[in-house]
Amino acid sequence: MSNFHDLVQNQKEMFHAGKTMTYTYRIHQLQKLQEMLNRYEPRIYESLHKDLNKSTYEVLTTEFGFLQQEINYTIKHLREWMQPKKVKTPNSHKGAKSLIYKQPYGVTLIISPWNYPLNLALSPLIGAIAAGNTAIIKPSELTPYTSDLLEEMIKETFEEKYITVIQGDREVSQQLLDLPFDYIFFTGSVPVGKIVMEKASQQLIPLTLELGGKSPCIVDRDAKIEYAARRIVWGKFVNAGQTCVAPDYLLVQESIKQKLLDQIKIEIEKMYTSNPMESGEYTKIINKNHFDRLVNYFDEGEIHYGGESDRTNQLINPTIIDQVNWGSKIMQEEIFGPLLPVLTFDKLEEVHDHIEHSRNPLALYYFSENEKNQEWVIRNLSFGGGCINDTMMHLGNNQLPFGGIGTSGIGKYHGKYSFDTFTHEKSVLKQTTAFDLAFRYPNSKMGRKIL
Ligand code: NAD
Repeated sequence: MSNFHDLVQNQKEMFHAGKTMTYTYRIHQLQKLQEMLNRYEPRIYESLHKDLNKSTYEVLTTEFGFLQQEINYTIKHLREWMQPKKVKTPNSHKGAKSLIYKQPYGVTLIISPWNYPLNLALSPLIGAIAAGNTAIIKPSELTPYTSDLLEEMIKETFEEKYITVIQGDREVSQQLLDLPFDYIFFTGSVPVGKIVMEKASQQLIPLTLELGGKSPCIVDRDAKIEYAARRIVWGKFVNAGQTCVAPDYLLVQESIKQKLLDQIKIEIEKMYTSNPMESGEYTKIINKNHFDRLVNYFDEGEIHYGGESDRTNQLINPTIIDQVNWGSKIMQEEIFGPLLPVLTFDKLEEVHDHIEHSRNPLALYYFSENEKNQEWVIRNLSFGGGCINDTMMHLGNNQLPFGGIGTSGIGKYHGKYSFDTFTHEKSVLKQTTAFDLAFRYPNSKMGRKIL
């Protein structure tokens, strides 16, 4: 504990020395981060394969490539983001100027999960660096190869008093949460998010919570079935369904259910073959506990497709579960695996109450050609973010803020939103000393008399 405490103190000293305040320093650190990723690229693929059996395609698109894009974008725009913003000043403040200064918080703590262990540790770090903070990263203990590599890469690239990795389980995480950080950025589950928030409240530390939940995927009668099926299969089964914004369950208009399920089967086999478990390129379930939890869901309905599993290697083939009802256990918890339960609706309005029952999904996807219905969904259903006629692609546009609502999270990031998240907006009024306005002071006559 005293070591962790010293680390935080050292970072505080480094921060207060002011080194991180300049544009040049921050750009240089972002470039170092980018060079680090390039230098370690082969080992990144290797460690993610060892931890999760991730394919090269998945690492490139969802981890490595994503980070590169985010760093490039940040480097390109940082100068503009850092500028103090001049805002209007009312006539009652005549002579004054109003500015918003972009101030880093200080020493930040980034706690990350196992499902995208590189991306979710380093993507917030890009925002922390850009905004001029120092950082301590606590990656997941469930991906030891990637967490070891993260520690090694960061140690080789940055001074410990600027950025460092501390590995460990929940005990370590909780010890860190007792320290006087200036900002906490947590990505993980809802129950742990509550613990983090409670801990942060003890010291009134501002925080971001990127959490999970059940994200519905609604397919309406006029949807283009082929596009819908392909995009649902991609979003659901990438990383074997272990994605916070994966479509959790399918809510399909009764009259097209059979057609959609037939097409989903075709798309699964096109993308993953008829037995992905044997491909050697299919992401595994993170551990035996999660494997057992997922396999238990098989009894929650009728297996319409898939259902094969291999406990030794922790693999589960893409599985569609039909005849599920809203009361089923699989509909009470975030699935976080390659199982797609299917429910139906007749009229679109019916989905409202069901989705409200799932409480604040992190994402929502709606497939339909009807613009009026698209607008209805966007305006009437509560969700963090989502897509019309696609799944998960909203994350790939860093112009869009990414975050939850209610139980799926607090705050947002990606692109400029990451910079903003790690920045305190300091309001400053610069007053003139050339004159004074009499009416603001007691015992002066109201009016615009200039003293
Ligand atoms: P988790 O909450 O179990 O763990 C996340 C991190 O918290 C890990 O580093 C872990 O060591 C630490 N931790 C665990 N228990 C703790 C405790 N009691 N006190 C303090 N720290 C603790 O989450 P996970 O299983 O690693 O990840 C899966 C969850 O994360 C899912 O719910 C998923 O939806 C969510 N998630 C959300 C996003 C997002 O961006 N919104 C992204 C990925 C995952």
